[in-house]
Amino acid sequence: MTAAGKRDSGAAGQEKRRVGAHRGAPLSHPGPDPSNPLHVQPIQFVGSFPDAHVRVEPELPEIAFIGRSNVGKSSLLNALVGRPGLARTSGSPGKTTLLNFYRLPELYLVDLPGYGFARASKGARAGYRKLVTGYLRTRSSLAGIVWLLDIRHQPSADDLEMQELLAESGCPVLAVFTKADKLTRSGLPVRAHELAEALGLRQDQIQLTSSQSKMGISELASSIVAAAERESA
Ligand code: GDP
Repeated sequence: MTAAGKRDSGAAGQEKRRVGAHRGAPLSHPGPDPSNPLHVQPIQFVGSFPDAHVRVEPELPEIAFIGRSNVGKSSLLNALVGRPGLARTSGSPGKTTLLNFYRLPELYLVDLPGYGFARASKGARAGYRKLVTGYLRTRSSLAGIVWLLDIRHQPSADDLEMQELLAESGCPVLAVFTKADKLTRSGLPVRAHELAEALGLRQDQIQLTSSQSKMGISELASSIVAAAERESA
C-alpha cells in the first residue's frame, strides 16, 4: 500500500469516497422519469415471431413501431420504457426480419423490422413487405402505429411507400421525428416544419424526439397509453 493509500483509509478517506459516489450517481444512472407513464410499469419480452398472424395471450392493444433501418427505433423503445438494454440497437441494420413483442400490463409494444436496407435483395424486400402488410391487415387489436423518420433526412422512396401502406391500413399513425438533438435549437422547428410539409402532415400528427436528450419521450409515452386506452374502451 502506498503512503497516499494509507492516508485515504481513515475516516476522512471514507467521507471523500461517499461524496464522490453521491456526485457521480445522478448523471450515470438517471432514474425513472415520473412524467413518463411507461417508466413505472413492469415490462417483459414476449418473443420474436416471423409470422404476422401470431397469437399472443392475453389479447391486448398493440402499438407498432416502424421505420427505416438506423432511424433510432431501438434507442427510442429503450428510452420510452427506461430500460437501456431492452431492444437491441442495430449493429447490422436490416438483418432482423422478426416481430418483437414486449408486454406492459395493458398493452404490447411491437417492434417491426426496419426497412430500406440498401443491400437487401428483391426477394428479401418482397418478404419484408409481406410481413408488414400482413401485420397491418390482420392485427385486430392494432391501436396505433409509431412511424419513425430521422429529422435530418428527406423522406426516402421507402418512407413514401411505407406511408402509403400505413394510410391503407386505416390505423392511427403518429409520425415521430428522431434524433432532434442533432439540430440546433433554432434549426429544429424550421426542419420539423419542412419535413412535415414534405410528408403532408399537420403539426398535431408529428412528435419530435431525441433518445439522447429525452426530448419528447414522455409525451410520446402518454400518447401511446392514450391510444391503447381508446382501443380498450
Ligand atoms: P434502429 O436501427 O432504428 O434500431 O436504430 P438504433 O436505435 O440502433 O440507432 C441507430 C444509430 O443512431 C445508433 O448509432 C444510435 O446511437 C443513434 N441514435 C439513435 N437515437 C439517437 C438520438 O436520439 N440522438 C442521436 N444523436 N443519435 C441517436
